[in-house]
Amino acid sequence: MPVWRAVAVPSQAAMDLADFQTQMRALYGDRDRGRGLARTFAWFTEECGELSRALFRGTPADREHEFADVLAWLASLADQAGVDLARAAQRYADGCPRCGSAPCACDRPGAG
Ligand SMILES: [Zn+2]
Repeated sequence: MPVWRAVAVPSQAAMDLADFQTQMRALYGDRDRGRGLARTFAWFTEECGELSRALFRGTPADREHEFADVLAWLASLADQAGVDLARAAQRYADGCPRCGSAPCACDRPGAG
């Protein structure tokens, strides 16, 4: 039985971040850990470049594809680094982590 079949993730339902990280570990964890954090990060940045191209020159389908790939590499990196993505996302659960407001009321634009 392939490893990925051992993971109980409904293929048509939305995955939460914890399920997604578990799925990426099952699919690529061994290979990515073998590659190491630095080389996995290099692949992540390569995927970010592909996302950039999709954002500015791609189709909606290209964008969806590249967002999935960037998220996959991010989840794999988080796994190697010992970071639980679902737990990390809680940083934003109650509003902006700096000012506490939703929407953010900080002078500086953007996340984090
Ligand atoms: Zn803020």
